[in-house]
Formats: sequence, structure tokens, C-alpha cells
Amino acid sequence: MSILEVQRILSHLGYNPGEHDGLDGPNTQAAVKAFQRKAGIKADGIAGPVTRGHLAEAYKNSRASEHFAMSEYQCDCDGMYCGGFPELMEEALLAQVENLRNRLGRPVIITSGVRCTQRNHEVGGIEYSKHKIGCAADLYCPGVHYSEVAAVARELGLGVIEYPEQLFVHVEV
Ligand SMILES: [Zn+2]
Repeated sequence: MSILEVQRILSHLGYNPGEHDGLDGPNTQAAVKAFQRKAGIKADGIAGPVTRGHLAEAYKNSRASEHFAMSEYQCDCDGMYCGGFPELMEEALLAQVENLRNRLGRPVIITSGVRCTQRNHEVGGIEYSKHKIGCAADLYCPGVHYSEVAAVARELGLGVIEYPEQLFVHVEV
């Protein structure tokens, strides 16, 4: 986990590490300290292995957005090749999927979020798939035709690929 990832996780969890610049500056250290205090571990402001472990766990267990748990986006290799989040989810995608769900006014099921390289290869994803960088999700909305889901996603400005055979829609930012 890089400093940049530490900063992205801290922001996602509601802490304020300052600019996501990949530098371990005073704002980041203060946010790490606040997180450590909350987690009940040694609050020294240094994101060492123990703290990084807690950050990864807290991220996995966090809400992705109001209606979605972060676990719904985790890699479905089931721990075969990765720990669930080989890459963090792009916040803009999480916000847009939430928007989509709210526009449809009913539950949306995510069938694939982030994917590690091995899993992406296994499911036949393209080499530069946005799933690999946390910028895409495959989803469907029970009771709503996939083409309508796709239309609403396009209106929201999402990149969309329809899969008529499998009845799901790929959305990406
Ligand atoms: Zn994986």
C-alpha cells in the first residue's frame, strides 16, 4: 500500500489527509494519527504495517455509498489471487453507481467490481479493462430492462457497454 493509497483510504473513511500527493506530510500524519486513535492502535502518525492492515480492513468493511457496501465491489476471485482490493475503487464511480441506483429508484446488484489481473484474465476481460483500476462495475437492476439501465447510466455521463446475452450492463468512469 503506497502513501497515495493510504491517503485515498483515509479520505474515503472521512479523515482529512490533505491533498492526495503521495507525500507523507503533516496533514497525512495527523489523519493517520486520528485513524489510529479510533482503531485503538498506537497513535504515532506513521502508517506502518499494522496501521496499513487496519486501513485495508476498514476500507473493505466501509460503505461504498449510501446504498452499497464496499464488499459488493471487491474482486470475486475469493481470495485466490488477491486480498479483495488489488486497486482502490474510484470515488467518482461509487458516486455514479449510487446516482444510478437512485434514478432507477430500486436496488441495483453489482456482479463485478474491481478485478485483479488474474481474475480479469479468467473471466475474459480485456487487458486494459477499467475493472482492473477500480473504475468500472457490471450491474443489473431486478425488474428493469437492461437497456433502460443503460440509458439512465448514459444520461448520467457514465461510459456504458450493454451485454444483452447476460442481461447486465458495464458502466465505467
Ligand atoms: Zn482477485
